[in-house]
Amino acid sequence: MPRDDFSRTTKDALAKRVGLRCSNPSCKASTSGPHSEASKSINLGVAAHITAAAPGGPRYDPNSTSEERASIDNEIWLSQNCAKLIDTDPAAYSSATLSRWKAAAEDEAMRAMGSPQYEYLPQPASAMHAPLPRIRDHDYDHARELLMQAGWQPYMNHWSKGAEWDMTIGNGEYFWNKCCHEIKAASPTGLAHCTFAFKDIRMQGLPSQAPAHKFWHS
Ligand SMILES: [Zn+2]
Repeated sequence: MPRDDFSRTTKDALAKRVGLRCSNPSCKASTSGPHSEASKSINLGVAAHITAAAPGGPRYDPNSTSEERASIDNEIWLSQNCAKLIDTDPAAYSSATLSRWKAAAEDEAMRAMGSPQYEYLPQPASAMHAPLPRIRDHDYDHARELLMQAGWQPYMNHWSKGAEWDMTIGNGEYFWNKCCHEIKAASPTGLAHCTFAFKDIRMQGLPSQAPAHKFWHS
C-alpha cells in the first residue's frame, strides 16, 4: 500500500503556523535552532500524521481519501519525542485529541505573533481556563491589556459600587474613575494592594497562581 506522505511546502507551513514549536500542550519544545554552519539551521520537528498514512498505522481512517490523508489538515507539528509518543500509544492520543492540540497551538502562535513580551505561565494539559499571561512587574494598565488579549474579561461591578466607602478613598477612586470597574478592593495608603476581578469565557475567575499584584498611584 502506498503511504500518503506530506509535501515539503505543507510541512513548512505547518511548522510555521505553530511558531516552530511542538503542538503537544505539555511539551511546546522549540523545534528549530542554529546549525554550527552559519548558513544552516537545525530542525528537530516532525510533521506527524493525525490519521495514519497507510492501513494498519496509528489512527488510520479507512473512510478518508488518499488526498485527505496527505493534506495539511491531517498533519500536526510535533517534536520527535512527541511524534514517537503519539504513535506508540495511539489509544491514548486519538485523532480528536491531536486536532485539539493543533488548534490550540495555532491559536497560541496567533496570539504570540508580534508581541515579544507575550509570555504565558505553564499550565497542566488538564487546565480548563484561558491562558495566564505573565503579568508580574507590569503596571495595571499593561497587565489588564495582556489579560484581555489572552481572553480574560474584566468582571465589572455594578455602577453603584463607585459610591461605596472603599471606592472613595485611596486608589479606589483613581481606578474607578479610569473605568476599571473590575476593582474589588483598594487600600487607602500610598503603596496599596488592590484586587481586580477577571473571568474567562467559561466564567471562571483567575486561578490562584495568577500572581497577586501591588499597584499604586501617587
Ligand atoms: Zn513535544
